[in-house]
Amino acid sequence: MDTHVNILGIPVPKLTMDRSIERVEQMIEQDGQELCHVITLNPEIAMACQHDASLRTIVDEAGLLTADGIGIVMVSRLRGTPLPERVTGCDMLYRLLERGNEKGWSFYLLGANETTSALAADVIRRDYPNVSILGRHHGFFKQEEEGELVEEIRVLKPDVLVVALGAPYAERWIHKYKGVLHAKIAIGVGGSLDVVAGTVPRAPMVWRKLNIEWLFRLLNQPSRWRRQLLLPRFAWKALVYRDK
Ligand code: UDP
Repeated sequence: MDTHVNILGIPVPKLTMDRSIERVEQMIEQDGQELCHVITLNPEIAMACQHDASLRTIVDEAGLLTADGIGIVMVSRLRGTPLPERVTGCDMLYRLLERGNEKGWSFYLLGANETTSALAADVIRRDYPNVSILGRHHGFFKQEEEGELVEEIRVLKPDVLVVALGAPYAERWIHKYKGVLHAKIAIGVGGSLDVVAGTVPRAPMVWRKLNIEWLFRLLNQPSRWRRQLLLPRFAWKALVYRDK
């Protein structure tokens, strides 16, 4: 049986959320491994990979790839090679915090604005008391500040580096520094720190179960409509996609 599904030429492993978290846990528990870059593949990244070879290389070199969004899952179903479920960055972050709370994992939070970053750290310390937040930094740093930031993360050696810079900026940033960061895993989580901080609402469970989280986000952040215009184009291209 095939273990991967072809999405616009990108082989996406057939992994449930539980299985993805197990994989991440293995990476964290195994010492001495190189950083595992977790990429939650959404339609925007998949589309950008079609014309951006450097981004495609980043995706190909990911330690773990998951299907971020109902768009990717729907296409896999319609092509007759179904992916089991959505494994989004935001859900992954919450599951990592839960597991991290049981296991005492350490985290570094990078991204979002200063207020949100501080608030997210407070919420995590309150709700996940066994997780240690080794450090955090907002995501609006200058290029000349990156060296110091990378050095800070390198010295702190977090188990999990959470990068909330938006996609694909986060993916590029992690890839650029993954050789020196000394984190066990690094994951781009889009705007999820805003959700953790409570500045952007999280879709209630029923919306998530119905796979209409995208609609909830659109209603709450109408400025996203432009970005969602890409979805029908993605769906069409991915449905008719044939390997060259
Ligand atoms: N962001 C950042 N630095 C930047 C640009 C964006 O830290 O230079 C943060 C922004 O504050 C937000 C997140 O990145 O918290 C992007 O959220 P969005 O929902 O747009 O990302 P997506 O989930 O679509 O990847």
